Amino acid sequence: MAAHTKIWANSADSHWLEPEDLWRSELPPALAERMPRSVKDPDGQYETVHIDGLQIRRKLPNPRRQAFMEASNRPKGAHDVRQRLADNDEEGIWAELVFPSLGMWNASFRDPALLREAMRVSNDYAMAEIQNRSARLLCTAQVSLLDVDDGVAEMRRAAAMGFKAVFMTTTPHPRQKDYNYNDVWEPFWAAAEELGLVLAFHIGTDAFDFTNDEIGIQFRGPGGAILNYTETTYSGQRVATKLVACGALDRHPDLKILIAEGGSSWVPSLGDRMNEAYRQHATMVKPVLSRPPKEILYGQVYTSFQHDETATGTMMQFGYDKICWGSDYPHMEGTWGHTQKTLHELFDDAPAPVRQRITQDAYRELFPTVPAPPTRGLKLL
Ligand code: MN
Repeated sequence: MAAHTKIWANSADSHWLEPEDLWRSELPPALAERMPRSVKDPDGQYETVHIDGLQIRRKLPNPRRQAFMEASNRPKGAHDVRQRLADNDEEGIWAELVFPSLGMWNASFRDPALLREAMRVSNDYAMAEIQNRSARLLCTAQVSLLDVDDGVAEMRRAAAMGFKAVFMTTTPHPRQKDYNYNDVWEPFWAAAEELGLVLAFHIGTDAFDFTNDEIGIQFRGPGGAILNYTETTYSGQRVATKLVACGALDRHPDLKILIAEGGSSWVPSLGDRMNEAYRQHATMVKPVLSRPPKEILYGQVYTSFQHDETATGTMMQFGYDKICWGSDYPHMEGTWGHTQKTLHELFDDAPAPVRQRITQDAYRELFPTVPAPPTRGLKLL
């Protein structure tokens, strides 16, 4: 593909930023006051985070890091859908699956009713203010992962509203059993399959360890930045492993899951490893699956990456093709400001069918209602 040609790509990993008054303006005061809010100390060194009656003191990043984090949220479209579409036109991003940002706080609610109501307000907002504004935008519904009955009820409401995907944390609520326990989660998987909802697990969403004074920091010392960032990818691989191993995906062959932002090239090697376990430890394996684990992974687990040089080779060499690209707009791990450069580096030397599959078609297999990008009149950069 010529370097001056615009490559249009669908993004299976984008985000909206919740307005500050989202819950305050919509929930009754008794519930609203328990929603997440942060109060900074006057000296800017610490903040107190209030969530559902909990008060968590945490150290704020140093001024240099704070400035970097603010700069990473520069794109105005994070708060404004018209500007978002203009940014996307400029960058060459066509359709987007739009995740929440404050969704990461969900695991910190202890009251099932509060969580249920908060999710309902978020979903009404996301549908009205984002998804309904353009056929190019799909939002992930948020549902309770603390109470499965609440979660299923909100999934049904969300599907009726037009949602096509559900945002999932890579580990469930800390007060809930893990995803591989079929006695708890079976109704959830069954409902998602029945409703045709993609379960979209976003990496980096494990419950916070509030004993740490800086959220997201697990490792310290030499290499800490790379260790902490890389650590977030493993939980995406774990949840895919769990849903294959416990038989959830085998029992529900029409259920599709997406592991967003965690890369794609791990799938073939994980599949080999799981097949080895399934074969070599066959006498201990429960439940028995109707298909080899790798076949289930290849068939029902979609993944997204932003910059990975190994993604095209993974499809060409190992035949895994449930690979989506993701911009991660407007987060700092994403491609905003250099999307076309990245897409050309990734795909200029790849065969056209591979480029087509990863930039557009795998996403449209997940979400067939999404319109195709313009094929004529490609804009020059
Ligand atoms: Mn993301």
